[in-house]
Amino acid sequence: MKTCLIVDDSKVIRKVARHILEALDFTVAEAGDGREALSHCRQSCPDVILLDWNMPVMSGMEFLRALGDEPLPHRPKVVFCTTENGMAHIRAAIEAGADEYVMKPFDRETLHSKLQIVGVA
Ligand SMILES: [Mg+2]
Repeated sequence: MKTCLIVDDSKVIRKVARHILEALDFTVAEAGDGREALSHCRQSCPDVILLDWNMPVMSGMEFLRALGDEPLPHRPKVVFCTTENGMAHIRAAIEAGADEYVMKPFDRETLHSKLQIVGVA
């Protein structure tokens, strides 16, 4: 089974994403901010990361930059989550190393197709 780390400060979003990902046969882990996500990656590097932009402690963008400096066994694919009024962030996220993006709120088909694009589903 592929592993996915959901990184979002919203418990509700994490719950919705977990539900979708488990239905797609992923083993799921959760983190509430970028710093938690980084320490998770050091211990157990996931195949893919679903990454929120706005989070306390360490934002999605700060996490992306920090991830690039980590000596990990492999580079996880990163699907960046944004809202419609956050479109301007997408280019910055892709430049910082994100592989794809998905608009919130996302449904199962949308998320599945993004995971297929990055090659993990
Ligand atoms: Mg957030």
